[in-house]
Amino acid sequence: MCLCPLCFIEDMHKYGDPYWHRSHQLAGTLVCDTHNIMLLSECPVCGEVLATSTEKIPKVPSLFCSSGHSLECVIPNHNKILLTIACENRLLLDEKVNLDVIEIEEKMKGILLYKEHISNKHTSRNIKVNRKFQAKFSEEYVNRIEDSIQSLKVNSIWKKQSIHPIFYVLYMIYFSGSITNFVHEDKYLPWKNMKSWPCPNKVCPNYKQLVVQLVDSKMISGDIYGYFMCPTCGYAYSECDGDNLGTLDIISKGHLWEAKFKELLYREDISFDDMKEILGTTFYWIEKELKKYEDLGLELLLEKLYSKEILENIKTDAHINKK
Ligand SMILES: [Zn+2]
Ligand SMILES: [Zn+2]
Ligand SMILES: [Zn+2]
Repeated sequence: MCLCPLCFIEDMHKYGDPYWHRSHQLAGTLVCDTHNIMLLSECPVCGEVLATSTEKIPKVPSLFCSSGHSLECVIPNHNKILLTIACENRLLLDEKVNLDVIEIEEKMKGILLYKEHISNKHTSRNIKVNRKFQAKFSEEYVNRIEDSIQSLKVNSIWKKQSIHPIFYVLYMIYFSGSITNFVHEDKYLPWKNMKSWPCPNKVCPNYKQLVVQLVDSKMISGDIYGYFMCPTCGYAYSECDGDNLGTLDIISKGHLWEAKFKELLYREDISFDDMKEILGTTFYWIEKELKKYEDLGLELLLEKLYSKEILENIKTDAHINKK
């Protein structure tokens, strides 16, 4: 347990009794966020521990250790980041600050993956970013934290076991300066630098023009998937910008494409080959779309598959064979 000697004296004046402050007991907090002085966890003279957290009801602190040394020991803090950590850590106790851990984790992974270019896998890059991360909080601080919790590594966000709240606080300070800034910051997306993309749909009036919009994004097992759509034709696809860069998955060809498909399907002078060309597609998509037209006659299908001449020849051949 820790106490701030100045808070202690103020409590005495205000309430007649001092008490343990919850905000002084948070892991990672080393200074009083009100007075910006070092917290005491032991007697500065003899090193007697004030109260261990294993005690069921730690006795109300006294300003003297059991050997009578005064605990009125004011050590000013000159490390700015320690005060920031103490202030930000305190927010965790504020019921009005409702933090969505899943959202925070997603945001962090997005930043690490696409801004810092690190993940669980790329180790040499991890070491570099880890050094930067730890340097932000000073070596002495990192050593103290690591002694009491676990190793302070930036990629521990991917570890299966739950991570200590102080990690989130430190991450948010590292990335955005404060918890509030982090929460209000936009999700980091790999597509952040662009606002629109060319429409890949050949029958769209805006074909190849920058009209496609990012409509949604999701994180699936550490990779960010973007969902894109053309507002003109409804063409929609998803793209994963994680490890398999630039993978494009068509979700829907869109209403314009489907209408064009139908129109061409019933036109006698248009073959499947022509359709492939006009629609800018593969037989896979033609076959897929054809499933919607189950009542289509075999005659029409054959006409689409083969040119008129070939069909005439087949018919003539059949005629000759019969003879
Ligand atoms: Zn204080
Ligand atoms: Zn003492
Ligand atoms: Zn389009």
